Amino acid sequence: MLLSEIEHNPESLSATVWQQLANQVLAGQSVTRQQALSILGSPDDQLLDLISSAFRLRHKNFGKTVQLYFLMNAKSGLCPEDCNYCSQSKVSDAPVPKYNILSRDKLLDGARLAAERKSKTYCIVISGRAPNEREMKAVETIVPQIKEQYGLNICACLGLLDEDQAKRLKAAGVDKVNHNLNTSREHYAEICTTHTFDDRVETLKNVRKAGMELCSGGIIGMGEKHEDIVNMAFELNELSVESIPLNFLHAIDGTPLEQKEYLNPRDCLRALCMFRFVNPTSELRIAGGRERHLRSLQPLGLYIANSIFVGDYLTTQGQPPQEDYDMINDLGFEITGSCMT
Ligand code: SF4
Repeated sequence: MLLSEIEHNPESLSATVWQQLANQVLAGQSVTRQQALSILGSPDDQLLDLISSAFRLRHKNFGKTVQLYFLMNAKSGLCPEDCNYCSQSKVSDAPVPKYNILSRDKLLDGARLAAERKSKTYCIVISGRAPNEREMKAVETIVPQIKEQYGLNICACLGLLDEDQAKRLKAAGVDKVNHNLNTSREHYAEICTTHTFDDRVETLKNVRKAGMELCSGGIIGMGEKHEDIVNMAFELNELSVESIPLNFLHAIDGTPLEQKEYLNPRDCLRALCMFRFVNPTSELRIAGGRERHLRSLQPLGLYIANSIFVGDYLTTQGQPPQEDYDMINDLGFEITGSCMT
């Protein structure tokens, strides 16, 4: 089968067609939206061939390395926004902890844990629409201390940021800002009405202008169409996002999306493959929902993605870190850039 036939006949794909698609990307030619859609719609019988093709792109850019990230929920709950997937939103009844920004000692404790768990990056996350002055000052104060004491990279996830706030974070030593697009522009109003997709894009542009790296991804499994997932992957490509966390909706009781759990592990792997093909040089992280949705197929995900979170997520539990280390070891992969190695 010829590569052009991917676009017209996804049902009868042969193994070689995915290798041809990888050849195309390795030769510097981007995949088309139609080819990306074909990845999402490809049959289970083609999954291993698709993964082995995606692995060639992963290998070219990241070898067999795995980058670990560690999350700290530095402020929880109390959010005035209405993101339907989020247990910390004003429309959620989920019994999540509610607290204001953590003390200096607790943030430093988190950094110590991140370093002990072989993470190179400490992600400081606060709930809310945008950081207030007190939160900005807390982050500006703690970041240099963490860097000096533990040598960790810092990713800040503080909500919407204006240009001035982005510049201040850069000056404080923040390396990267996380602000997820979450879904496509077209689907955005279905999951949130208190801010827009364009608000999120503007924050990413402010971060870029300030000279920091972008971390931005999305959530699969919120009732979106395949076209939405593809559109999000292309938006991230247009923004040249360096690091893409891909979450799989963990529908939490008490949130508006509590009934929405329909993903299977093969869907998740196809979505990861599509993101790898559209964003071959971006770090791709299997994020929230990894254990719940990929289940026994988690190791296959690491042939496509090159990063995971170690430890817990913001309001849900991850698997014990040792299981992640064992998985990475069993694959013959290696943790990269750890501050403890
Ligand atoms: S802005 Fe952030 S914390 Fe607030 S509801 Fe949305 S995702 Fe949750």
